[in-house]
Amino acid sequence: MQTIIHKSLKKHPLIEEVDSILRSCVHCGFCNATCPTYQLLGDELDGPRGRIYLMKQMFETGENSSQTLKHLDRCLTCRNCETTCPSGVQYGRLLTIGREIAEKNSPRLAFAALLRWSLRQVIPHRKRIGLVVKLATKLRRILPASVQRQLPTSKNNDAILDRHQRMVILPAGCAQDAFAPDINADCRIILDKLGVTAVEIDADSCCGAMSEHMAKSAEAHHFIKKNINAWWPSIEAGAEAIISTASACGIMIKDYGKLLENDPDYAEKAARVSELCADVSEFLSNEDLSSLGDKKTARISFHAPCTLQHGQGITGSVESLLSQVGYDIIEYNDAHLCCGSAGAYSILQPNISKKLLLNKLDNLLSEQPDIIATANIGCLLHMRSGTETPVVHWLQLLNPSKDSKHV
Ligand code: SF4
Ligand code: SF4
Repeated sequence: MQTIIHKSLKKHPLIEEVDSILRSCVHCGFCNATCPTYQLLGDELDGPRGRIYLMKQMFETGENSSQTLKHLDRCLTCRNCETTCPSGVQYGRLLTIGREIAEKNSPRLAFAALLRWSLRQVIPHRKRIGLVVKLATKLRRILPASVQRQLPTSKNNDAILDRHQRMVILPAGCAQDAFAPDINADCRIILDKLGVTAVEIDADSCCGAMSEHMAKSAEAHHFIKKNINAWWPSIEAGAEAIISTASACGIMIKDYGKLLENDPDYAEKAARVSELCADVSEFLSNEDLSSLGDKKTARISFHAPCTLQHGQGITGSVESLLSQVGYDIIEYNDAHLCCGSAGAYSILQPNISKKLLLNKLDNLLSEQPDIIATANIGCLLHMRSGTETPVVHWLQLLNPSKDSKHV
């Protein structure tokens, strides 16, 4: 598709990338078939082809209306459209750049801007989100059941583990550390059984995904550099990987190299960090799991987060690992669709998010599993809000010191 970039945007540092992405789209519309918001709302402008068209208009005229921003905001950034697109259009990247410009051209109303700012001031900061969760836990009894199910129930398991020669970095994350510290605690125990020490570094911070998705790239770069600085000594000391237990963080860390490629001080280090990053399923797929103990018995519905299946292109690995240790994996309809969590989407677009959640749970529960498992804290909490069936991180099902009824 031919594009003529507006003169006011010609000096934008990412304009060549934008132009090339826009040109790669042939407007065939195949992507609409798998877009959750297009399926729900039935509006061309709430599908990927329509959103690309809106962004093309914006880049060609140098301006946009609040309507453009509204349709871009409704996008989940699930990247299902990228999996479907036969032309390899990098929609997610285009959207990230497009949102920042659309927001500058068409500033948000005060309340919407304040809500976004507040979320960015709390969720990505481990101590602040930790305080909010602690307070909510104290008030647990008066909160709705859907919120109660999202709050942590057990204390972090700080087991003393052996020090092994093999070592990996295990990012603590922000929301996951506050809501479900037992995920990384279980990960440390599993890796210990495999003869690997997982190092958690206090100084690391949010991966930057929330800022990036809210069109605040400078803020995201600040988080990224903080993490690189925190992890670098362990990388130099021989860490063989950076293991992510949250697929939304994993995809972000894998992008560090791309995001800082023009930064003279950080480009090389960022590329190395991205190269080292692996989702925990990728890491465990190359390990011998026989030391993890007896066969397990439970029927599992696994929801692969969009950041795992569409963003990182990891499909089937988790199911295969769970099968290896004896779990029965259930197949269900529309496994490719988003659960509606999508970062802060469930707060910013509650109606669409709720509909997606109900559809997802209907499918996940259709064969009456014992447990729903997933691979990202956002999806995990979102799904917990809608069902009494236990929802856990799949990794916890491998912990040899827990049985599947007590994960
Ligand atoms: S993004 Fe891909 S599938 Fe969608 S309209 Fe463009 S070329 Fe077709
Ligand atoms: S990222 Fe997801 S919601 Fe957004 S246009 Fe693509 S398929 Fe639709």
